[in-house]
Amino acid sequence: MMLFVIAGTREIIRAGGTHSSQVRHCPQCGQPMRFRDATRRTYLTLFFIPILPLGAGRDGLACDGCNTWIAPEAYRLGGMETV
Ligand SMILES: [Zn+2]
Repeated sequence: MMLFVIAGTREIIRAGGTHSSQVRHCPQCGQPMRFRDATRRTYLTLFFIPILPLGAGRDGLACDGCNTWIAPEAYRLGGMETV
């Protein structure tokens, strides 16, 4: 009997409903966008379905346009200028 298991990992971004008040330049879109609070977490996947969270999630911001996740240090240290 042969059994194939396709396992991997996938990062999932869960955006909250809270918008930051500032508009920032998104490094991905290159546009001034609003950002939401968002948590990024890595999941173990089986057959491309997320099964198990691996480690703790990381809080950050997600772009409203392209959903790119931004690490806290990126926007706190001035990597993203506000508009
Ligand atoms: Zn964007």
